[in-house]
Amino acid sequence: MRNLLDLNILDLENYLESIGEKKYKAVQIFEWLYIHKERNIDNFSNIKKELRDKLKSDFNLDSISIKKVEVGNLVKKYLFELVDGNHIEAVLMEHDYGKSVCVSSQVGCNMGCKFCESGRLKKVRNLSTYEMVEQIILIEDDIKDKVDSVVIMGIGEPFDNYDNVINFIKIINHPKGLGIGARHITVSTCGIVPKIEEFSNLDLQVNLALSLHAPTDEIRNKIMPINKVYNISKVMKAIKEYIDKTNRRLTIEYVMLNMVNDKKEDAIKLARLLKGMNVYVNLIPYNETNNIDFKKSKNIEEFKNTLLKEGINVTVRREFGGNISAACGQLRSKEV
Ligand code: SAH
Repeated sequence: MRNLLDLNILDLENYLESIGEKKYKAVQIFEWLYIHKERNIDNFSNIKKELRDKLKSDFNLDSISIKKVEVGNLVKKYLFELVDGNHIEAVLMEHDYGKSVCVSSQVGCNMGCKFCESGRLKKVRNLSTYEMVEQIILIEDDIKDKVDSVVIMGIGEPFDNYDNVINFIKIINHPKGLGIGARHITVSTCGIVPKIEEFSNLDLQVNLALSLHAPTDEIRNKIMPINKVYNISKVMKAIKEYIDKTNRRLTIEYVMLNMVNDKKEDAIKLARLLKGMNVYVNLIPYNETNNIDFKKSKNIEEFKNTLLKEGINVTVRREFGGNISAACGQLRSKEV
């Protein structure tokens, strides 16, 4: 049986039509679920009893639950338990421009990036749409406030769970859903080329970020196994097409690893690769973890200045969440 929160508005309209009901009731149901956050279908007071009973027999409203909350400076990390006993994490961050949530898209991850903690547990399964939507709903309940922006940068590779992630985006973006503006939603991929192509053809104003992390195949092969499938030239071709089709600026994520990808010549090569493209580079100071041998680069400022001199837009990602292991690459699918 499907969860009612797995349905986007079109799915719900189609369902209603298929049972001989009026389409407009989809909006009413969305309002109950996402605006009033009502979970007892019997309380959907503008829906007649017959339809309420039908909804109850066709869908469940299973829920994930908050198992633990850790509070840091301007950041909160949530450990969620799923109905089947698996665990995932999400992080709430307070920026000066509002509250943002970093959501997980899978239990574990199969991409195997050498520097990332989240992939140490192989993928157990994809998250269903409702399990992503509820990360935000439960956080909004906890803080008694709205979330302003969402980044799909937690555990998992979103484009390895493409359909559920796109469905999730449609639900949180809908004005009668969670109402989070498309421009306030960012999906980050390690570079699954066919899915970047599919994403380019969607008519969604959602931001895309690419985890590039290296200017050459030689370096990228060493730290990101996915590069053996989709190498830099394939990924660059896909993002050029994305930028052409959508007219949107793309973010290039680049994690700064000591002595691995942080030399001046790496910055120059990166600049050559990106020259003239509508991108900006977001340098991520590496968050060290106990289990992995990489170290944080000491050259971040110099690397940044080299890129600037070469005419590339660049920012350094703010570091926070480290003391509660809530930073990029530190989220885990295991209860610890
Ligand atoms: N799978 C997606 C989503 C993860 S996003 C992707 O690869 O884009 C998380 C970002 O943090 C990615 O750019 C990832 O490469 C980066 N990251 C992973 N481990 C990190 C660490 N320990 N320190 C800093 N960034 C890290």
